[in-house]
Amino acid sequence: MKHSLQSLLLILFFCISIPQTFAQSIQSPEQFLGYPLGSRFTPHHRILAYFEHLASSARDRVKFSQYGETYEHRPLTTAILSSPENMSRLEEIRTNNLKITGLMEGSPASDAKAIVWLSYNVHGNESVSSEAVMQTAYELLTSPKATAWLQNTVVILDPCINPDGRERYVNWYNQVVGEKPNVSPYAREHYEPSPTGRPNHYLFDLNRDWAWQSQKETQQRIALYQQWMPHIHADFHEMGVNSPYYFAPAAEPYHKEVTTWQRDFQVTIGKNHAKYFDQNNWLYFTKETFDLLYPSYGDTWPTFHGAIGMTYEQGGSGRAGLGIIMANGDTLTLKDRIDHHHVVGLSTVEATALNREKVVQEFKKYFDINNNNPTGTYKTFVISADNETNKVSELLAYLDKQQIRYGYAKGIPAKLSGYNYFTNKEENISLQKNDIIINTYQPKSTLVKVLFNPRTILSDSVTYDATAWAIPYSYGLKAFALSQKIEIEPFKGVVSQTSRPNIDRPYTYLAKWKSFKDLQFLVKLLNKGIKVRFAEKEFSLQNKKYDAGTLAITRTDNEFVKDFDNIVASVASEFNLPLDYASTGFANAGFDIGSSSMRFLKKPNIALLTGDGVQTNAFGELWHFFDQQLGYPANVINANTVNNIRLSDFDVMILPAGSYNAGLISQLRSWVQQGGRLIVLEEANFQFADNENFELKKAKIEQPKDEKEKKNLEEYLRKYGDRERTALSDYIATSIFKVAMDNTHPLGYGYDKEYYSLRQIAEGFEYLKSGWNVGVIKENAYIDGFTGYKAKQKLKNTLVFGVSEIGRGTVVHLVDNPIFRSSWANGRLLLGNAIFFVGQ
Ligand SMILES: [Zn+2]
Repeated sequence: MKHSLQSLLLILFFCISIPQTFAQSIQSPEQFLGYPLGSRFTPHHRILAYFEHLASSARDRVKFSQYGETYEHRPLTTAILSSPENMSRLEEIRTNNLKITGLMEGSPASDAKAIVWLSYNVHGNESVSSEAVMQTAYELLTSPKATAWLQNTVVILDPCINPDGRERYVNWYNQVVGEKPNVSPYAREHYEPSPTGRPNHYLFDLNRDWAWQSQKETQQRIALYQQWMPHIHADFHEMGVNSPYYFAPAAEPYHKEVTTWQRDFQVTIGKNHAKYFDQNNWLYFTKETFDLLYPSYGDTWPTFHGAIGMTYEQGGSGRAGLGIIMANGDTLTLKDRIDHHHVVGLSTVEATALNREKVVQEFKKYFDINNNNPTGTYKTFVISADNETNKVSELLAYLDKQQIRYGYAKGIPAKLSGYNYFTNKEENISLQKNDIIINTYQPKSTLVKVLFNPRTILSDSVTYDATAWAIPYSYGLKAFALSQKIEIEPFKGVVSQTSRPNIDRPYTYLAKWKSFKDLQFLVKLLNKGIKVRFAEKEFSLQNKKYDAGTLAITRTDNEFVKDFDNIVASVASEFNLPLDYASTGFANAGFDIGSSSMRFLKKPNIALLTGDGVQTNAFGELWHFFDQQLGYPANVINANTVNNIRLSDFDVMILPAGSYNAGLISQLRSWVQQGGRLIVLEEANFQFADNENFELKKAKIEQPKDEKEKKNLEEYLRKYGDRERTALSDYIATSIFKVAMDNTHPLGYGYDKEYYSLRQIAEGFEYLKSGWNVGVIKENAYIDGFTGYKAKQKLKNTLVFGVSEIGRGTVVHLVDNPIFRSSWANGRLLLGNAIFFVGQ
């Protein structure tokens, strides 16, 4: 928008006479930085320097501190702004608020302050946010009107949630912009190359990570968030250049856990913003596009913590640069974008400050209900003691991060019935002593319900993100949901499973293969130069039964390893594994340790492809998996430089979702034939389907001829007004399906006969004719999430995980993503099977 549309707000916030004492000590962003905001992008360290300046020139009203750092070692910070009186008792205000939630013991004082948390630049290339926050902070400290708000409000500003992404964008833009920005939408500076600045270092979308906390930035921020529990949280974003501005109230679907008050106050805040936008004749929209369902956003996760959680979207994003011509012929400048986000930031604080009493009162009511009288059908979730100990302990570590309380049952009721996640039925249930109990009578009640409820209840609206995520499925844990409250007693901590052998120099060590920790154990041994074998089939040794996939670490393979026994024992204890050992290789049943069925595992050299055409997030998830979760770095190679490398140097090559050139795909066929092990994920499988060099085929649904004609005629008469809904019949919004597993194949080792998979692709693939169909969708496999009726039909009797054998090599097809957003804990072992076992 043009400069001539100067805002009334500038009159409102800027031109009110600023008291001399403030003006002398506190510099505006322009005075401090030496250029007007909006005339160039400010580097991250200069943004932080400005906040340091504010903190040092208004010591009694600003506290600026670092709460963490990014993967690229940039500081993560917050600035807390309030009145001198509030700042002098900040710790009391914070703890008082935690007492209101019940996260801290004690009775809260009645004069609680409102807490507003504003988060900027979670998407790094939505670059206006971290510019606007400087102006917002300055106004909050210098405008008398804002000074009055701070008397009953504490404002927490996170100037940049994703500095690594923002610097990726800003550095690139500065390199390509000329002396003056080129506002032509065709100019190079409006086409950001991949990877864009949107995601973080590992190319994760941090605005999909709140619930899963897979990334360092999220973990550190949420730890701090939970020390404050703000009443209002707003997340500042940008969208397409030609969309003007979006603010609350949000679009449907809302999750059913969103309360009436939360809906209502979104409208109050939205109307307050609208007042300023109307005065300035700025365009905006509400109630469209941005819904409140998936729990991992910067609006929903705070909403499920009692806050009014909101997304604000300015038009612009990575395309807009310092200026760009919009469809209506006007130029959108960075300055315009700053003005809008700035006004909305202030208006959020204003609306909260004006309604402080009600905001605090409703917040208290929310937690009173959560703690004493929670809503919802299910009051207790039970994680069965029958589950693998290490899988349960991973879940408990996750619950700890979320501050979700759990324990053992206090007295076990005799008769219970509940929903069994694995049989998908209501049935009679008897509790066991060591079952983990999570009831909904706790501060995190809403989050517990959102994460554990077996079904996501969707209002009849369109959403384009995942619509199913129930934790028992993502962790692969036998669990029940009960409508009755079970009281808990404290959890005694994870029992140590590791013990040292009571014989000297065992013939072999044996480790089971059931959880991600077993995979981490294997990888750590390989990294330490220990040689490992794995069992192709089940066997018995010294009267103990071992499943396929069991690891054998024999003395003879490792005879030259110094300190062999200590290394194996210490790595096992690091992952809390119950390590077995035997003094003989002679099996009671099945094969002996020396048999060729106890296969030697060659430490694989791995190539992971990236580059143009490869989906950024899909690659990032794999990169993070190898680098941060396994500690087994893969060789990251650009798909367009594969021609320059000697393929025979690699044992395993991984193709994340993406499109690859046909030449590369036929080149890979001969590498596979000579023993290469190829792993193809998600959409990348489409390029292998119906390709004469490979076995995979897309499933075809043949309709009877006359029904087809009838259908077609009906489809001609579809209504324009229903077009979104009609398109949905073919659509799948990331849903859960039950996959039947062949756990006798190495790709299925460690799993039961069923695996719950997150489905994103609406097309199906036929069963492999000569390969191994390790995971398939059969009849009635749909569990939860939005899946159109045609999509459900198409997926029946199709392949999800399969292995083709070509020459001496293998191609593993993983149609579903086993590590989606690093949220699907139970898929990691499957990926480990594909990498370390298949084709060995
Ligand atoms: Zn965004």
